[in-house]
Amino acid sequence: MHGSNRKTGPMTTAIHAGETPDTATGASAPAIHMSSTFISEDVSGFSAHDLTPESPYAYARWANPTVAMLEAKIAALQGAEECLCTASGMAAASAIFFTFLQKGDHAVVSDVSYAGVAELARDTLPRMGVDVSVVDMSNPENLARAIRPNTRLVHSESPANPIGRLSDLAAISKIAHDAGALHSTDATFASPLGQDAIGLGVDLVMHSTTKYIGGHGDAVGGAVAGRADLIRKLRLEASIHHGGILSPFNAWLIARGAATLPLRLKAHQAGAMAVAQWLEDQPSVTKVIYPGLPSHPQYDLAQKQMTNTSGMISFQVGGVEDGERIARDMIDKLKIVHYAVSLGHHRSLIFWMETAGLMKTSFRLEGAQTQSYRAFAGDGIFRLSVGLEDAEDIIADLDQVL
Ligand SMILES: *Cc1c(COP(=O)(O)O)cnc(C)c1O
Repeated sequence: MHGSNRKTGPMTTAIHAGETPDTATGASAPAIHMSSTFISEDVSGFSAHDLTPESPYAYARWANPTVAMLEAKIAALQGAEECLCTASGMAAASAIFFTFLQKGDHAVVSDVSYAGVAELARDTLPRMGVDVSVVDMSNPENLARAIRPNTRLVHSESPANPIGRLSDLAAISKIAHDAGALHSTDATFASPLGQDAIGLGVDLVMHSTTKYIGGHGDAVGGAVAGRADLIRKLRLEASIHHGGILSPFNAWLIARGAATLPLRLKAHQAGAMAVAQWLEDQPSVTKVIYPGLPSHPQYDLAQKQMTNTSGMISFQVGGVEDGERIARDMIDKLKIVHYAVSLGHHRSLIFWMETAGLMKTSFRLEGAQTQSYRAFAGDGIFRLSVGLEDAEDIIADLDQVL
């Protein structure tokens, strides 16, 4: 099923999709077109509303050849009809929310998600007159109960940042569609190759391309992939009107990274598996959450839904004091693993995330939802993005502090 819409294998797609050799110069590698405007061959002005895929380039906020190259590449990797690139992952999330929701609508969002998305959904959407329900989607029944007659959008995240909890994307798609709502998912942790979100019925798949797709920690960007009619609507509203476009330079960097995504993701998974297994044997580590390990509470779902479990591990070390002490030690002693936020880069990254703090600033959960979170995260977790260094070196580095 995975990648059923792809015309070539994933490695060929990652390298060639969107790229055509330059007929003017014969250049094999894609160019960076920094031009903000394009010479017009038509005397009549045209409105963004008249824009079609056949329209010539006019202005870079509408479309730019280098950004279009990356959009075609990500659409092909995700097995989607089209893709819109945005200035950041957050711009991708706000593009979805502010294009497909309006005053009086109801949206259901995952109770655990990237913190910025959590805050956007909890603080900004209600201010715009959208009712928001915050739901633990790891059990689809919770979603079914939250649906209302005016539910227009269901936004999931799997695996969910920062705890690695999964949601059944096919089950969520069905519930959303039965209710006449769109299902958008944040697939940043999995990348386009970790799960076939489109094949599982998702309408809009968003990514922070700052993470696995770019893969080298040197360019911030975002993307939304999905059906052509939905992406065209997004392009008009979010790109042309809201204006959060990706720069051609970043598009070029991200495309250069995307070309090796299939190879990198395999290596991330192999490295993460070795590190996760080692972590499970450490007496100071009290719990390891990695979807590739049989000990993951949703291992069966991971096996069913994911084609690559990528490089994201969460692990506990006991209480808050233990976590803070070890985090301090990491800042002082780690040589290979960088103590820093972000993820999906070739460099390994680790960051301590205390549960009480995140509950207060971002998630604001109560009762059963807090318990579900704590079942994965306890009082706090280290979020480890296993990079592409040799696993033995990552392990030796962590061994100094664990
Ligand atoms: C990083 C991240 C985002 C936000 O992306 P930016 O590119 O930093 O704006 C959104 N969702 C997830 C899951 C992320 O990890």
